[in-house]
Amino acid sequence: MKMVNVRRYLRGSGRVLAFVFVASVIWLLFDMAALRMSISDVNSQLLKERVIREKEMMIKQQSRVTQLVMEGFKHPVQKVEQAVTHAWRKQKSNKLAQAYRRGGKEHEVNSNQKQVINKSVHANSRNNGDNPTKQDVRPKKEAVNLDLSEAVVHKTHRPPGVQINQNLLIKTARFAQNPVDGIDSKADQKVKGASAKNQTKASQLHVEEAHPAQTIAHQNPNKNVNRKEENMEAKRVGMSERTNVNVKKERLKPIVHLRAKENTRINSTAGRTAGVHKVLHLDMTQAPRDPKAVGQFGQAVLLPKSDDAVVKKRWDEGHFNVYLSDQIPVDRAIPDTRPESCAQNLVHDDLPSTSVIFCFVDEVWSTLLRSVHSVLNRSPPHLLKEIILVDDFSTKDYLKEPLDKYMSQFPKVRIIRLKERQGLIRARLAGAAVAKGEVLTFLDSHIECNVGWLEPLLERVYLDRRKVPCPVIEVISDKDMSYMLVDNFQRGIFKWPLVFSWSSVPEDVIKKNNMTISDPIKCPVMAGGLFSIDKKYFFELGTYDPGLDVWGGENMEISFKIWMCGGEIEIIPCSRVGHIFRGQNPYKFPKDRQKTVERNLARVAEVWLDEYKDIFYGHGYHHLLDKKVMDIGNLTEQIELRKRLKCKSFKWYLENVYPDFSTPLVKAEGLVFNRGLRKCLALQKGSLSFEVCNLNKQNQHFNYTWMRHIRQQGLCVEPQSKEHGFALLPCDNAKRELRWLHKISNVALAEHLIAEFSNHMCLEAEPRGVTVRLSPCEPNNIFQKWQFTHYSV
Ligand code: UDP
Ligand code: MN
Repeated sequence: MKMVNVRRYLRGSGRVLAFVFVASVIWLLFDMAALRMSISDVNSQLLKERVIREKEMMIKQQSRVTQLVMEGFKHPVQKVEQAVTHAWRKQKSNKLAQAYRRGGKEHEVNSNQKQVINKSVHANSRNNGDNPTKQDVRPKKEAVNLDLSEAVVHKTHRPPGVQINQNLLIKTARFAQNPVDGIDSKADQKVKGASAKNQTKASQLHVEEAHPAQTIAHQNPNKNVNRKEENMEAKRVGMSERTNVNVKKERLKPIVHLRAKENTRINSTAGRTAGVHKVLHLDMTQAPRDPKAVGQFGQAVLLPKSDDAVVKKRWDEGHFNVYLSDQIPVDRAIPDTRPESCAQNLVHDDLPSTSVIFCFVDEVWSTLLRSVHSVLNRSPPHLLKEIILVDDFSTKDYLKEPLDKYMSQFPKVRIIRLKERQGLIRARLAGAAVAKGEVLTFLDSHIECNVGWLEPLLERVYLDRRKVPCPVIEVISDKDMSYMLVDNFQRGIFKWPLVFSWSSVPEDVIKKNNMTISDPIKCPVMAGGLFSIDKKYFFELGTYDPGLDVWGGENMEISFKIWMCGGEIEIIPCSRVGHIFRGQNPYKFPKDRQKTVERNLARVAEVWLDEYKDIFYGHGYHHLLDKKVMDIGNLTEQIELRKRLKCKSFKWYLENVYPDFSTPLVKAEGLVFNRGLRKCLALQKGSLSFEVCNLNKQNQHFNYTWMRHIRQQGLCVEPQSKEHGFALLPCDNAKRELRWLHKISNVALAEHLIAEFSNHMCLEAEPRGVTVRLSPCEPNNIFQKWQFTHYSV
């Protein structure tokens, strides 16, 4: 019976219906499979598509670049371009990557990276004084994450008054050398295979889902901008939700674990308990990216020789290649330079939101926009509370109404304008004062945030609100605008006299802690421009010293304050932001630049350095001690704050945060031996005489200090008027009469003690050995030659 029914059913039109039904089911199944794939693989497909585009671009551009270089292109930055281009042509060297892999960290090797630049170049723009400081040039073996070609050395600009000798070490990764076989061959095949099937789908998604509202807003700038922006926001959230679907699936198979200790939140702002998800890989664009656009994918651009004049003419607008920057899309793609494991890292679902604060003065239009777009496009919208642009009394017209108008497309962007020039410190504070996010993220106004930059920073604050995370600061070339990645294991440090510098984490620390290239790096001093900090904590710390002016030293101040008052500064290798390092500050200083920076540094030294401040002054800043020369302002509040917060000593900071820095408190110490008398200086009943040298006698022990004092306890040797010989007076840093030059570069007088206030007068042992006197300096007079037992410097 049943069979009959079925047969009847399958007869005639029934058969057609059944066929249609079965076909639809099969179609549906296929469709679902395709849909599932497209959802779960949104990120990776977008990435793959980008990789393919990048490769195509590289092939096309390389031939152009080579041609231009052959023509002998010259503009102010020729050396770097040539270096880059030459490096491209060099044979790849796998030595470093192999060495690294032998260390068992192969998974961390990032094959998608483009160029490596030694970070010592950064110090250029962060060197505060005019004292020569050699920057660390890291040995090649420490650049562990890449296959590198040979290093090319190049000297960067020197800011006026800053005698810095930097070696710019540009290395090019294998991807840049040979775009065709630059990618790991297996991965490459995978990409090719996947791309053939999915490329169309991926690009459709890219356009339809990520950007439609922006595209529309672009076409109809005057209509319903806000609604469209909301629409765009919704779409973006939609995308991140989809990514979350993906993440939830991933959670069922926990390949990556947060380490147990990191799962425990310390000092967190809220008592949330939440799940985790894989770091979101967002990279929105205004419109589909044009692979042929200038500087697309962070590539180096070599302009034709005929542009030299205009490049030069516009250079001073920002002290970088402004002419070129203006041609690069404001939302260009840049290579994802994170160590590979970063994309797999888990972060909490309920991270705090952040206000991103950009302060700027006369920033170049295109770089300001690129900075803002990089934040809008690469930050999870639910974490980005707002972007605050603080205009520090810029003079350029385009930064007024035109900027207001442009930014009105983006409801998250707020502009506040200062009524007079405050400098970056007080401008940041003005931004912080109105910020609504739980975390403040400060950025310079000529940066590009890379994919996945934000969550790893916020995660650290989430885990402990006293953590102050900084992204790895990568280099956007001031000349060719290429995006260059930097060596691993780099951290910010200071050298005397409070000069910021980069140096690599010591090998033994890396080994002892089993550090991988994606682990947070303890950072004694932040570079200054880019960091996140819990807002409440920032205010608890007393923010920056608002008495600091314009630029300089504020990174030292906030760093010492954070570390000494209970916080931590970290560099987070999974968060990467490119920054244009300029050879000079492109803006004017209301007062003399050097004086401004020196004054700031003196404030920092007085409040934070304890007995070490003498070392700061001793490195060419003695003149700052003269109140007539420099008024460093009132420090009462800062000193009070330090007391109130019960901050630790600078000695503690050096020993615990920067233990690899050895910095002797005195220049020389021990007995003071006179070569003529062959006896030692001794203090007897308040006056100076000589005794047979005896290390056990405390009255023969003196220090030669950074203040250039000859000092015993709190007493300093001071020449008096001729008849009265010498007195030992309470030491006073401001008194020039107490300073003695010793071991100066003049070889003939190297062993002499030259009274600084006098005109070539030297300390001389009176031949009877009763006392000392001041006489005109004579290079060969051995009664004027002195030797301390131990010299530290
Ligand atoms: N800035 C500011 N007011 C000033 C000086 C600087 O708003 O008086 C801004 C500047 O536009 C930039 C940030 O502060 O966005 C940091 O300055 P800069 O980039 O010159 O510092 P560097 O990167 O050289 O340390
Ligand atoms: Mn900057």
